[in-house]
Amino acid sequence: MPASKTIAAGQVPCPSCGARLGGREGCQSAFDQLSAEAWTSPGRGALHNLVVDTYAMQHVEEYGRSPKSYAAHLTALCCGVEHAADQKLYWAISRWLDGSAAVGKPPLITRRGGLTIADVYAAAREDAYADLVRRWAREVWAAYADQQKLARTWLDAVRAHMTSAGFRGKS
Ligand SMILES: [Zn+2]
Repeated sequence: MPASKTIAAGQVPCPSCGARLGGREGCQSAFDQLSAEAWTSPGRGALHNLVVDTYAMQHVEEYGRSPKSYAAHLTALCCGVEHAADQKLYWAISRWLDGSAAVGKPPLITRRGGLTIADVYAAAREDAYADLVRRWAREVWAAYADQQKLARTWLDAVRAHMTSAGFRGKS
């Protein structure tokens, strides 16, 4: 990142998502802190899968290295945004990928949404947090417009796998 040394540490943008929390490292510690806080309240806990998948799709260099991990997060983000209440479908994604699912990794995109973890991290109140997480997820999902069709195809494969496996879900 050129010129970042002249900027205060907190202003250095994350090279993956652009959050100004102190480069990639500061961005990661914000994510780690939100992950820890997810255990402190049921409201935050219920949203945490969406936080993880949204964050992962803004940091695919690390979280989407293998085709299966990329597919896992993209499909999960699709599920989290378009089928938010369907927990059975959500948990079936990893079961599908553990099997013989063959997935190819699409090219990485560079513009990954205007909102980042910095916006969510700044939320002071619980209700504001939930709203911001959903907006952040929708923004990132929208940034993946070119891959939404592929993600829906994968989600269809997950449904087919659930049916064929007699999947009963995970509580
Ligand atoms: Zn970042």
